[in-house]
Formats: sequence, structure tokens, C-alpha cells
Amino acid sequence: MLTHSQLAELLEEHGQPAYRATQILDWIYKKRARSWDEMSNLPEVLRDALAEKYPLRPLKHTLTKGSKDTTRKFLLELPDGRYVETVLIPASPALYGETSDRHTLCVSSQVGCAYGCKFCASGLDGFSRNLTAAEIVSQIILAEELSGEKVNNLVFMGMGEPLANFTNLCHALEMITSDWGLNIGARRITVSTSGLVPQIKKLAEFPRQIRLAISLHGPDDETRNKIMPVNKKFPVADLFDALRLWNSKKNQKITLEYILIEGVNASVEHAAVLAKRASSIKAKVNLIPYNTVEGLEWVRPSDADCTRFKSVLSKAGVSATLRLEKGHDIDAACGQLRLKKEKGQLAE
Ligand code: SF4
Repeated sequence: MLTHSQLAELLEEHGQPAYRATQILDWIYKKRARSWDEMSNLPEVLRDALAEKYPLRPLKHTLTKGSKDTTRKFLLELPDGRYVETVLIPASPALYGETSDRHTLCVSSQVGCAYGCKFCASGLDGFSRNLTAAEIVSQIILAEELSGEKVNNLVFMGMGEPLANFTNLCHALEMITSDWGLNIGARRITVSTSGLVPQIKKLAEFPRQIRLAISLHGPDDETRNKIMPVNKKFPVADLFDALRLWNSKKNQKITLEYILIEGVNASVEHAAVLAKRASSIKAKVNLIPYNTVEGLEWVRPSDADCTRFKSVLSKAGVSATLRLEKGHDIDAACGQLRLKKEKGQLAE
């Protein structure tokens, strides 16, 4: 899968007229062709040449977990035999927005992750590779086919650090938001990052109003260093400078994701510092009580402590959400999805 301009360039190399690009994109995104052979208005020789290099379905569905009324996780096999998971979340008024007709898809951007955030399962096996733009977009197309539902809300919170795969992310965003592509509104797309400062500044220049979420999890360097190794490279002050720049370019609120971990970042003192930080960039805060991850040692605070933490934010005038139900492992910022790459594990 290519962007409009990449496709136009490729077709020019094949001596084809420019209108072929529109025909092909129409087949891919509107008619949802599964193979180049279906594109009956293209010359056969062109179809054969493109089919060899650009498979329309680079991902293979392997397994679905969950049911129509619950979160559904699709395990997808990549052409090199690795796996990624994409997660379809049923409409929920509390999740990333205001409307309730949403079908939110949580997509992966890399296989594994190099950033090693301490709460996260995705980094446990290290980093394997970036996903191509086609592999990112294919997660959406496949999820729509498998579910029969139109994805209208997208979060880059699956496996991987999306901003570490910057070029492919931007190409994918172009395919997702363009009217020749999937045509999903930019305001319904949230990119979540662990805080890569240079790339946040670059993404602020992306010419669409996509949303930004930061896996913050600590309001000061001392706390954040314990949870997010990336903070040693891009400390909190630099991160918030980048977020101020983002605010100057984009017209929507940043979300600060904050996993509450007993004895680490969940005291009322932490809440007070977080409130100041959030106010300084007019951000909203999404509080997520820690969900135990197998192999990791941290503990979830009591419901009373979580509520107390939130009330410090609310009293300071910061908009904050907190859901105390257990089992919401999807919306815990990039990568708390417990990805199980081996079919054997998932079948257990
Ligand atoms: S939270 Fe995101 S950036 Fe951090 S290790 Fe997990 S996938 Fe990587």
C-alpha cells in the first residue's frame, strides 16, 4: 500500500497515465479489493507487475479472542512470520472522546519495542522491527473485514513506540486520513508516545489535527526515571517544552496517561505536581490503576487511594478520568496490551 504521491510516481515509472492512481486507490480503499486481479479496469501487465511487489493483504488473520460485545483481539501474521495484535474496542462513553458510536481500534506500530517502560509487556522481548505503513493500515482494513464494523476511532497504543517509526507512521496517517484512503477524521486518531521529544516536535508539523497522548506516569524526573527509561534522554522539562510547542500548533487538548502504581507514583504529593504540570499545558489526565502484568512486580493502589489522587487533580481544575473496573488493559497507553505472539500461548 502506497500513498497517492508514491503510487503516482510508481505508475509514471511504468509509463502509466496519472489517473491510474485514482483507479487503484478506489479499488483498495472503496471497493476493498483483496487481490490485484480484481482490478478489471487496469492492464493485466500492470496488475502482474504490481502484484509481485505490493501485496494487497500483507497480514494474515490467525486468531480472534473475545466476542462481538467485548474487546476483540486479532492476532495477525506478518509476511516474515512474526505476529502483531490489533484490538477492537466496543463503544464506550469513557474512552477518548465524547460520542458513543465509536469503534476504536488499537493498532501496533512495531514488532516489540526498544523503550523498555517498566510497566509494559511489549518491551519484554526487545525490539524486532518497524511495521511498514502498509502493515499499519492493513490492521484497520482487516479488523473491519473481520468484524463487519467501520473503524471510526483509532489509537496508536498497541505494540511499539509509534514515533520511533516516524516515516512509516506519517505515511500511514496520510493513507488513513485522506479522502482517497480510509478517510477517518484526524481528530479521531490518537498517537501515544513515551515522550520522544524531537519526534513530537516534528509531528506537530503534520498538517492534520491528530491527537497526542503522552505516557507520562511520573510528574517529575525522579519518579519518571523509575518507570520510563526514555526520561533519562528526554527529561520532563524538555518533554513539556515540546508539548507547549504542540499546543501552539494544534487545536486540541493533549492527554497525559498516568498509570497509578502503589508506592511509586500514586501519592497525593505526586498528584499535586501532576496537577501543576497538566495545568501548564491545559492537558487532560487519564488515570489508569495498574493492572498486574505477569513477570512484573508492581502493585495496584487501593480504590480509595486512586480516588484521592484524582480528587487532587479535580480540585486543581484539571480534567481527569479514572476507571476503577479491572480488566481494562487496552487503554493503558502504548503497549500495555499483553501481547502473546505465539499461537500456542493464545490457545491456552
Ligand atoms: S509503553 Fe510503549 S514505548 Fe513503552 S515499552 Fe511499551 S510499547 Fe514501548
